[in-house]
Amino acid sequence: MKSKTLLICGGGHASLPALKMGSLWKEAGLEVVLLSTHRYLYYSGAVPQFLGGFYGMDDARIDLKVLCQNYGTTFTEGTVTEIDETKQTVVLSDGQEFAWDFLFINTGVVSRPLSFAHPRLFPVKPMTELIKLKPVLETGKARKIAVLGGGAAGCEIALNLTAPDSPFQIQLTLLEAGDQILSSFPKKLSRMVTETLTRRGVEIRLSEPFSEEELPGMMTQFDAVIHAAGNIPATKSIRHGLPADAAGRIRVTDSLQCVGHPKIYAAGDAASPGAVGYPPIGVHAVKQGVTFRGVMEALLHGKKLPSYKSYPLTPLILSDGHSGGFFIADKMAASGRWAIILKYMLDMNWLEKYTRPPAERRSWLRLFLDASAR
Ligand SMILES: Cc1cc2nc3c(=O)[nH]c(=O)nc-3n(C[C@H](O)[C@H](O)[C@H](O)COP(=O)(O)OP(=O)(O)OC[C@H]3O[C@@H](n4cnc5c(N)ncnc54)[C@H](O)[C@@H]3O)c2cc1C
Repeated sequence: MKSKTLLICGGGHASLPALKMGSLWKEAGLEVVLLSTHRYLYYSGAVPQFLGGFYGMDDARIDLKVLCQNYGTTFTEGTVTEIDETKQTVVLSDGQEFAWDFLFINTGVVSRPLSFAHPRLFPVKPMTELIKLKPVLETGKARKIAVLGGGAAGCEIALNLTAPDSPFQIQLTLLEAGDQILSSFPKKLSRMVTETLTRRGVEIRLSEPFSEEELPGMMTQFDAVIHAAGNIPATKSIRHGLPADAAGRIRVTDSLQCVGHPKIYAAGDAASPGAVGYPPIGVHAVKQGVTFRGVMEALLHGKKLPSYKSYPLTPLILSDGHSGGFFIADKMAASGRWAIILKYMLDMNWLEKYTRPPAERRSWLRLFLDASAR
């Protein structure tokens, strides 16, 4: 039987479980091919701490090329610009064309495009752009920094850049359009993070939506500006004819199957599963990756497709350097050193599945001891 191809567009958090199935699925007649813009996937759970100087580069990224090599998956670095659902092909920005039998879209989001660009203006997404801030911080010349947007991303970066044990001495200004930061979380979290940042001398300017005309002026006022004021799906810059929700996320069923296109699947921030979708956070992307692996297994063995089910509570931990963290689950918010120990253990346990061979992965006890010693 001629083998079929599963083409994965975008090596995001949700693609990782399928990338590890390359050799196994090849035996069942399915070749796995990854196309992704960059060789590295930056782990958003660790990047704020990386920027604050608490993690090295390799603690915050996955080498997709090496992962694919190790598990019998083919990797090509490139940006998908077009999906043809009738011809069953995709096209890269350099004109290369790839055919597929099954397509999985996992391209995530990019920061809301601005009409103004500057080498010291850093969007939070894609993270390959955000991490360019780190060498600028290391020169010691970026002392005055503005963060645009007081959501989870902007606040977590602000916390790490101003943490007392960070090597960087930074004067930070946080601009938020609404009348409080972290407005989509419990009020208690907003209060706790506001108090922490204020204690560190961070100027929090509420009800201050920035306009794009102000950006050139901001670049003279600040040494670096971080754009954390909203994202759009990366599929918005891919030509395709797939159904999408109002935000542009690909509409898929609970089995992550594109509505009206049974050979196309999507997950993570780029997808809107079921009736209303889920908030674009990594917790869903990671869990949907496991569902997608189950979906392909079911297709290969002629079984019923599994459905995505989120956790009853969606937990999130915001890091605050390596000595503290803020834990949020539904309406509950709490903080303490225990939260950053828990975060380190969960993050590193997850990351090592994709960065280390099984024999070199740390046990839960080792992770706990390492987290406690940081
Ligand atoms: C600062 C920050 C901190 C965060 N912290 C957390 C957290 O602690 N917990 C949490 O749950 N969520 C967190 N998030 C959200 C989290 O980053 C996203 O929900 C998660 O990354 C979504 O994963 P994904 O699988 O959809 O795609 P992503 O992981 O975003 O990956 C998309 C991939 O697709 C590639 N790609 C994009 N476009 C193309 C194209 N056209 N062609 C080919 N490849 C392409 C990219 O290079 C990338 O590798 C954070 C976000 C930010 C900005």
